Amino acid sequence: MPETIIAGNWKMNTTVSSAEPALRKLRAGLPVDGVTSVVCPPFVSLELAMRTLSGSGIEVGAQDMRPEPAGALTGEVSAVMVAELCTYVILGHSERRQMFGESSELVNSKVLSALSHDLSPIVCVGERLSDREGGRAGEVVTEQLRASLMGVSDPSRIAVAYEPIWAIGTGLAAGAEEAQEMATAVRTELGSLFGAEGARDVPVLYGGSVNASNVSGFVDMPDINGALVGGASLEPEGFIKLTESAVPRG
Ligand code: PEP
Repeated sequence: MPETIIAGNWKMNTTVSSAEPALRKLRAGLPVDGVTSVVCPPFVSLELAMRTLSGSGIEVGAQDMRPEPAGALTGEVSAVMVAELCTYVILGHSERRQMFGESSELVNSKVLSALSHDLSPIVCVGERLSDREGGRAGEVVTEQLRASLMGVSDPSRIAVAYEPIWAIGTGLAAGAEEAQEMATAVRTELGSLFGAEGARDVPVLYGGSVNASNVSGFVDMPDINGALVGGASLEPEGFIKLTESAVPRG
């Protein structure tokens, strides 16, 4: 059975000084039994997050990284740098794919680099509204997944986040059944890449307008093992409540 993960992606929100009280509040309320909590602040607050959350059981994640270990890449950070500060890294988020032109090939090189530095990648895949309306959602997502995980031999440190682009930040979450259908497609593809046993324990998360009221509907689905949360992760009390609502039942 995969672990249940609730990961908060703060995106480009908070400063170091505003992150500190938020991290302290999270430390007071998380983790809860049965759920792995991951907090992904902006790069500038990673060290603060690592220090503030040290020994709490809450994991820290980065929101991106470059695949190269070092070099003349002004403004970028590598897996080597990130691995000193956190254990998870979000890769291939649709905002990076869409706004920064990231291809699945680039995402794949980031995944391989992250794994080689003992980071746990949360690999994001998801279709556009036009793909869904054209009946291509499953095909688009499995193709992204296959290309993003090329050359990965051991999936044990990977989580996959299925995030339909039309649901991100829109308040229009996918239906739980709709998300389950895509999570099954993701798990089937993981099975063909890694074998049924390898795929079985990979957490498949849903992301897209998840909040404290709808999260249980997603995590109750057999192929969904948690959520990647954007907007609703920014307010600590709400994120704690959301996490409590995600505790697996039974
Ligand atoms: C995300 O950024 O991954 C996300 C799912 O955002 P939101 O929860 O705000 O839709």
